[in-house]
Amino acid sequence: MLHVITKAQAAACVREQLKQMAPRTETVALRQALRRVLAQDIVAAEDIPPFDRTTVDGYAVVAADTFGAGASLPAELEIVGEIAMGEAPAFSLKRGQCAKIATGGMLPPGADAAVMVEHTDDLGGVCLCYAGVSPGANVTKRGDDVTAGTVALQKGTVLGARELGVLAMLGVYDVPVFQKPAVAVISTGDELVTGTPKDGQMRDVNSFLLSAALEDAGCSVRMYGAVKDQKQAITAALEDCLQTADMVLLSGGSSAGTRDMTVEILGEKGEVFFHGIAMKPGKPTIFGTAQGKPVFGLPGHPLAAYFVCRLIVFEALRALLCLPPEEPVGTAPLAVNLPSNHGREEYLCVQKQPDGSLRPLHTKSGVISVLTQADGFVCVPRDAEGFAAGTNVAYYKV
Ligand code: AMP
Ligand code: MG
Repeated sequence: MLHVITKAQAAACVREQLKQMAPRTETVALRQALRRVLAQDIVAAEDIPPFDRTTVDGYAVVAADTFGAGASLPAELEIVGEIAMGEAPAFSLKRGQCAKIATGGMLPPGADAAVMVEHTDDLGGVCLCYAGVSPGANVTKRGDDVTAGTVALQKGTVLGARELGVLAMLGVYDVPVFQKPAVAVISTGDELVTGTPKDGQMRDVNSFLLSAALEDAGCSVRMYGAVKDQKQAITAALEDCLQTADMVLLSGGSSAGTRDMTVEILGEKGEVFFHGIAMKPGKPTIFGTAQGKPVFGLPGHPLAAYFVCRLIVFEALRALLCLPPEEPVGTAPLAVNLPSNHGREEYLCVQKQPDGSLRPLHTKSGVISVLTQADGFVCVPRDAEGFAAGTNVAYYKV
């Protein structure tokens, strides 16, 4: 018999257990930091940009010298030099003077604006300036991008290309990140094969599906492969995996039938915290610990295993990697009525229609290809009898 708890209770239980596991950190080279999770706030050590610089090709000027200048009455400025890229100007500007400058060049002391070359004429030693500029025009001031001492990136940020760009700008070439949780994935079932199945056999999907989902979520994964429904074999696989992994997932055999041995094995090797979640799919889900490490027993149906991984196992990863709670992709109206009265929280794949509405992709249990057709999933709460067509619902990344 399963003693079913709500999904919220299950998630809270997982978080509570994971709280005791301090996340481990390491430092990786910036080039290796893509998709890793920041282990501490990155505080800017310096102003970015570190000096006032132009955003145009043209002339560094004293803005006041250009006031009132126009096409018929240009300002006449003495060209006192040219500012080389990558070098600090060796001179300063006095009133009535200007200096040639290229985009990104450092403004000389005394200058407070730049004029675009298109608005000027070079008469040789003298620049005619046909446009008035105000102080700060065409200039990025020191610290405009990032001010020294401020938090540029927060702990828990998943580093993408844009974040790596910011780190490069700040000179953070050694990046503090959380270690990747080492997760082992075991499939169980007498019927499972990799290769060509005989009648009655099925290809092992979960090993690949769950391993990829976990890698995608920032784990380093050991795909153990498929194990027969034999207590000894499953126990040996679990023990083997516990030697090196921080967390173990077993799929299949998680219900309460005679061939469902995961809960018994976990009870013997450690402690079971719950067996059964009021969610659909995903009811026969087990969570416990062995040797102080979290162990999940997931339903065998690939779709159910995937949803439990996404919704419950990822809760553990969020705790281990200090990630913020998952936010929906957005909200959109339902294209049709969505009845649901199972007394379980129901998760359904949805497809976005050309008019922006969401159409549920109904599936029979055991069907998995729906995952590749879905643009997201929605959740119908336990106490709701479904949603009427047109209701705005939140949807999440599948
Ligand atoms: P079980 O949870 O072991 O009762 O399995 C439920 C259903 O999921 C059965 O039809 C199994 O054949 C199928 N199943 C279990 N494990 C896997 C797997 N790794 N890959 C594909 N299907 C599986
Ligand atoms: Mg089975």
